[in-house]
Amino acid sequence: MAADAPRSNFIRQIIDKDLASGKHDQVHTRFPPEPNGFLHIGHAKSIVLNFGIAEDYQGQCNLRFDDTNPLKEKVDYVNSIQEDVRWLGYHWEGKPRYSSDYFDQLHAYAVELIEKGLAYVDFSTQEAMREMRGTLKEPGVNSPYRDTSVEENLKHFADMTAGKYEEGKAALRAKIDMSSPFMVLRDPVIYRVRFAHHHQTGDKWCVYPMYDFTHCISDALEGITHSLCTLEFQDNRRLYDWVLDNISIDCHPQQIEFSRLNLQYTVMSKRKLNLLVEEGKVSGWDDPRMPTIAGMRRRGYTPDSIREFCHRIGVTKMDNQVEMSMLEACIRDELNQQAPRAMAVIDPVRLVIENYPEGEVEQLQAPNHPNDESMGSREVPFARELFIEREDFRESANKKYKRLVLDKEVRLRNAYVIKAERVEKDADGNITTIFCSYDADTLGKDPADGRKVKGVIHWVAADHAKPAEFRLYDRLFQVPNPGAEEDFFSTLNPQSLIVKQGFVEPSLAQAEAEKSYQFERIGYFCADSKDSSAEQLVFNQTVGLRDTWSDEA
Ligand code: ATP
Ligand code: MG
Repeated sequence: MAADAPRSNFIRQIIDKDLASGKHDQVHTRFPPEPNGFLHIGHAKSIVLNFGIAEDYQGQCNLRFDDTNPLKEKVDYVNSIQEDVRWLGYHWEGKPRYSSDYFDQLHAYAVELIEKGLAYVDFSTQEAMREMRGTLKEPGVNSPYRDTSVEENLKHFADMTAGKYEEGKAALRAKIDMSSPFMVLRDPVIYRVRFAHHHQTGDKWCVYPMYDFTHCISDALEGITHSLCTLEFQDNRRLYDWVLDNISIDCHPQQIEFSRLNLQYTVMSKRKLNLLVEEGKVSGWDDPRMPTIAGMRRRGYTPDSIREFCHRIGVTKMDNQVEMSMLEACIRDELNQQAPRAMAVIDPVRLVIENYPEGEVEQLQAPNHPNDESMGSREVPFARELFIEREDFRESANKKYKRLVLDKEVRLRNAYVIKAERVEKDADGNITTIFCSYDADTLGKDPADGRKVKGVIHWVAADHAKPAEFRLYDRLFQVPNPGAEEDFFSTLNPQSLIVKQGFVEPSLAQAEAEKSYQFERIGYFCADSKDSSAEQLVFNQTVGLRDTWSDEA
């Protein structure tokens, strides 16, 4: 299956219809993140949907920062979001847009609503407003400020804009219907006072438009045809349409909702991810355990694997929780085909081949991929002293154990057949060295006498291997839906990061950051982009060789 083959979904069907009927000549979508955190895998779903549609229909997709809440937003986030969208392989139409680009127009539209008697300044306290709003079962009641004259409202709003009211003392509300079954239509606040410095507009404004008012107008100003958002905005669509119906603007994009991505064993809200960072539960937004694009990238996920995941989960209106194994299958499938093989020992024990000449070093040829000759081969040094995985040796074992056992033979991957002769132990009984003999006539071929050697283990040459740190990752949380827990910190997995010190074959000294290798028999790993250097190699486990999630339930 081609990684980027578009799969049909209900949104693409709507677009097909709109193009066929001539409602639109060209599709124009947008991806509208709020710059209050790093992008996560949930955003990737929206990115692949919006940019993917623009690509497949030869349309356009804007990147727009929805920046109406200056207190929570930062330029750092603006930058990381652009980097992540680009890394995923998409490009936006023209320059990045900002909702704040439209603050002048938004303000003028607010004035237009006041002039039409469709908006008023309310001086009620927030608490009073909340009480007057009613509940799902009971209609709200009109604010005493609802019938203020147009002239007075214009003056009050001008005063608000001029900074004459403190925060929370005055708000501009749309005059819609206090008894609407849709709470969002009960005279929603559309402008509020905030004496805050804005990352784009500086100190120009002390009134800021609310999301619902801003979003629809920004869409319309940019000529968006299909405004795709997640299901929780279903009711807000009434307000989206009301605003555009009541101001003088020609364009009226269609809002379409789809279900958000929920992934098991992690959290997706930027607020919660920010808490993990702020409280030092992870090393940063790009910690390889985070479900952020930056974290996944550092861990060795590729743009292709993330796009493929978004295609596989599809786009529907049904809320559900996707299993982590689905995400991991995407990167595993790709790396199984494309990652070069290499040898690393993460929990080393020394092995000496007593009949191998002291001081001799052979450069053995090892294929970079068992099924793909075009990936070539590399030299791996072989010598008398090696390291193997501690768990690959036992003094005695039954037949199911296909590794090295005392008095038995095993094949060293890409090298010879060896036999374990005896062991040396320390005072505590731990094995310090395994002494072996080797059969010099078994390089790249079976033993001449026809005896069968079933097991294969990996190794590195002790004097040539490079020391390396290995970071093994497990699920960040211990429960499938940590977001639903009152104290989600208490469900963090204390074993989500395990650090091992071992060795890698010398060819890995030059491993490029973020490029994954299959460490034979262990898993997929890539050099860490922040902490790894030629002097101090650090490898992140991208994913294991097999699915360990499904069995565990
Ligand atoms: P968060 O709670 O993580 O802050 P958000 O919806 O507030 O999420 P925005 O930055 O406003 O985040 O989102 C930008 C776009 O990405 C929106 O169109 C939003 O619907 C979409 N999006 C965010 N989270 C998900 C998700 N989990 N699945 C699909 N789309 C998402
Ligand atoms: Mg948000």
